[in-house]
Amino acid sequence: MSAPQLLAPAAVVADLEAHHDGDLAALLELVRIPSVSADSSHAPDVRRAAAYLAERFRAAGPFEVEVFETARHPVVTAEWRGAPGAPTVLVYGHYDVQPPDPVERWDSPPFEPTERDGRLYARGASDDKSPMFIPITVAAAYFRTLGRLPLNVVFLIEGEEEIGSPSLVPFVTRERERLTADLVVSADGGMWRADHPSTMVSTRGMLKLEFTLRGAAKDLHSGRHGGGIANPLHAMAELVASLHDADGRVAVAGFYEDVQPIPEAWRASAHSLPFDDAGYLAEVGAPAAFGEAGFSTLERQWYRPTLELNGLWGGYQGEGSKTVLPSEAHAKLTCRLVADQDPADLRAKIERHLHEHLPPGVTLEIEPGTEGATAYRLPDGHPGLRAVVGSLRAVYGVEPWVIGMGGSVPICEAFQRHLGMDTVFFSFAVGDEDIHAPNEFFRLHRFVEGRRAWADLLARLPEEIGHG
Ligand SMILES: [Zn+2]
Repeated sequence: MSAPQLLAPAAVVADLEAHHDGDLAALLELVRIPSVSADSSHAPDVRRAAAYLAERFRAAGPFEVEVFETARHPVVTAEWRGAPGAPTVLVYGHYDVQPPDPVERWDSPPFEPTERDGRLYARGASDDKSPMFIPITVAAAYFRTLGRLPLNVVFLIEGEEEIGSPSLVPFVTRERERLTADLVVSADGGMWRADHPSTMVSTRGMLKLEFTLRGAAKDLHSGRHGGGIANPLHAMAELVASLHDADGRVAVAGFYEDVQPIPEAWRASAHSLPFDDAGYLAEVGAPAAFGEAGFSTLERQWYRPTLELNGLWGGYQGEGSKTVLPSEAHAKLTCRLVADQDPADLRAKIERHLHEHLPPGVTLEIEPGTEGATAYRLPDGHPGLRAVVGSLRAVYGVEPWVIGMGGSVPICEAFQRHLGMDTVFFSFAVGDEDIHAPNEFFRLHRFVEGRRAWADLLARLPEEIGHG
């Protein structure tokens, strides 16, 4: 491909190089703070990390900096709207970290950042302190060299991501005006592989359902009653088998009704990845790939919905045998949803299927439940994605991969639902950096690459999003 052009101003890039050591030292100071959000004994540390971030924002430039109290841990915002007519981005990240346990499995203390082989080892180094700190240093370089940013920027750095962001939705709805932007750029959410740049365009939603089948009012003797009363375990086997067809498709009527087709470019990117079923099967130790016909394994895991049994039980499970005709059988299932499936609508469809396919002789009881997460998907051809891809291409000199995510990232859906804003992912962490595990690390060359890329992205976004 032709040499991609870095849109970042040369003066900013040079300034970042000149300040590399000082900025890295400032990051290490943040990493040393054990801001473990789940552990209340670390609440003062979480607070200290928020205060430190606020101080870094104030040092970076003329940001309006706020530390907001929430029910638990503070949210730090830094706002600069000095580019009238230019678009606005909301930069999302989090400064809290997972507990370091088991501490004895670390090769160096989790809160003493240690460099080995070009990697920075520490809890939070990858998730999310380095990726989140990079754009702060880039903003500082813009203010030092040009006195301004190329567009309006609002940072939103929370301290509760690792405990499920309980304060985030109340906060964004309350501070809607302050946070209004054209696009969210998430500095959280890693790349797929270390040797090739990538960005996520979708996350899957989730739906949980639990149900019980009942036959007789109590367990019965299978000799005295067997043959005369329905066995709920048999009925359960029949019922759960009806949930899929022979091709691995979910057989619930209307299940795929609202599923959007996968954009061609995303399919092409998924097919270009160095992923093969044989290697994957060896990794997970499974004898064969399985799933909905007509899609590759990655497409099924990223862009297609699933219905999965997570638990199935009933009857006698103890040693030896027991001649019982059980009175109950239980099942738990979850669905991974994709856009535009609605968890409540899907739940109703599955409940209807269970009732309609209920074998004779048993009754069905479905646990009430409303919880569910909606999937998120960036609209096809989104200008924010063009900007992200353009910046990664300019820094790495290769075509970035566009990838999906099988799991859920509730913040995307929250920003979409409550603020009407789409999210693009721009993180320089990699999925293999042992986040949430001992010996978490961040690749230090990505600190350099990430700074160039963020400098480029801030310059590129106004061109792609347009002004206004
Ligand atoms: Zn994270």
